[in-house]
Amino acid sequence: MNATSSQRDPAKMEKIVSLCKRRGFIFQSSEIYGGLNGAWDYGPLGVELKRNIKDYWWRCMTQLRDDVVGMDGAILMNRAVWKASGHETTFSDPMVDCKTCKRRFRADQLDSIECGQRPSKTPSTCGGELTEPRAFNLMFKTYVGPIEDDSSLTYLRPETAQAIFAQFKTVLEVSRKKLPFGIAQIGKAFRNEINPRNFTFRSREFEQMELEFFVQPDKGFEWLEYWKEERLRWYEAIGIPRARIRVLTVPDESRAFYSKGTYDLEYEFPFGIQELEGIAYRTDYDLKRHQECSGKPLEYFDEETRTKYIPHVVEPSAGVDRTVLAILCEAYAEEEVKDEGGKSEMRTVLRFHPRVAPVKCGVFPLLKNKPELVVKAHEVRDLLRPLMTVFYDDAGAIGRRYRRQDEAGTPFGVTIDFETLGEKGAEWKDTVTLRDRDSMKQERVPIPTLPERLLSRIR
Ligand code: ATP
Repeated sequence: MNATSSQRDPAKMEKIVSLCKRRGFIFQSSEIYGGLNGAWDYGPLGVELKRNIKDYWWRCMTQLRDDVVGMDGAILMNRAVWKASGHETTFSDPMVDCKTCKRRFRADQLDSIECGQRPSKTPSTCGGELTEPRAFNLMFKTYVGPIEDDSSLTYLRPETAQAIFAQFKTVLEVSRKKLPFGIAQIGKAFRNEINPRNFTFRSREFEQMELEFFVQPDKGFEWLEYWKEERLRWYEAIGIPRARIRVLTVPDESRAFYSKGTYDLEYEFPFGIQELEGIAYRTDYDLKRHQECSGKPLEYFDEETRTKYIPHVVEPSAGVDRTVLAILCEAYAEEEVKDEGGKSEMRTVLRFHPRVAPVKCGVFPLLKNKPELVVKAHEVRDLLRPLMTVFYDDAGAIGRRYRRQDEAGTPFGVTIDFETLGEKGAEWKDTVTLRDRDSMKQERVPIPTLPERLLSRIR
């Protein structure tokens, strides 16, 4: 994939947004009051999808490794942290105002934003005169305690990373790790984006999954390559193939001033190729600044080389919400299928990898007015429920129930019918129909083998 192969598909995006609302993945925050720009709520299916992504990241980045530990820092921190990190003075985007429509735009994104006038054009071509760009700090201000003045001012964190840097020494000591080692964290971050847009892609409140990996000063580039490969493998394991991710080597002039090398992992969203994750070699910038500003030593004594130094850092920083959105875009499909009577119809299906699918298995009694079928279906539901998320549905024709689960991205469906009860021969007793969401193929499976069969596919 390259930049020129990017196909924008606004119609697909609209369908995904509408499916997300209809099926309970993502809604606008405070919608009954007209919403709040840049804030989103995850509904019953969305919260499961998001949780599965975060859990799998956590598992791969901490629990399956010896060299990474986790932490969960506070969102509110001493303002001194943001002075030291440079966010208070430099965490800004260039903003321009339109003198005609009075709207504000990010000066570096004018060619992809529409002005408020009809017919819409980009702000620079709509005829409205723009002001000179000026820096707009993206951090949300807040006050700690009952007095609102400069002494109580702090910010909602715009990234999770700084909590890790501020606690580096403590976590190192309590975990008794040696370099190279990392600290991982998942949590909310807030940025007062000038133009939130593209559904959840650019929000004002979002979640990050960040790892700060501390290494010897001469090993930064080596670990940058390592984490790029590791992260690409991770996306593959949740259903975003390597070929669908473009690795951009961020050029010198676009890199953050503290970075010696950055890769952006970009995905081809229906609104264009955009960043999913940044992997930056941040050098010793952050720890050095916190050492200078706090006066507390943040050096590491390397027993191997018998030297003391400030570790260098490689940071893979991924957005949870952008990953959810990429997975939704990757999974979304519409296809023509035949119904039970052989008639063609369109089905919408989310082909989630079973590992991240919000519901793993639908359980359906063929008819809901046959108590024997319902009792057996409850038994199957109760057998599977301790092992995976199950959705029990007895409402409507079986074909309709399958379609509903297709739209929810449920990879497996189990139907309990008269054969399960042994009414059509002893050899069928206690078997069910197992339907595969993607191929729609059905096979007859003994109930006791279901858990292992499904778990092996989910893993
Ligand atoms: P962008 O250039 O798109 O604004 P960034 O380079 O500022 O992103 P980073 O500071 O590197 O982003 O943050 C790491 C990750 O956090 C991003 O790769 C992205 O997945 C996520 N992220 C950053 N800003 C937002 C946002 N406004 N909404 C949703 N996710 C975000």
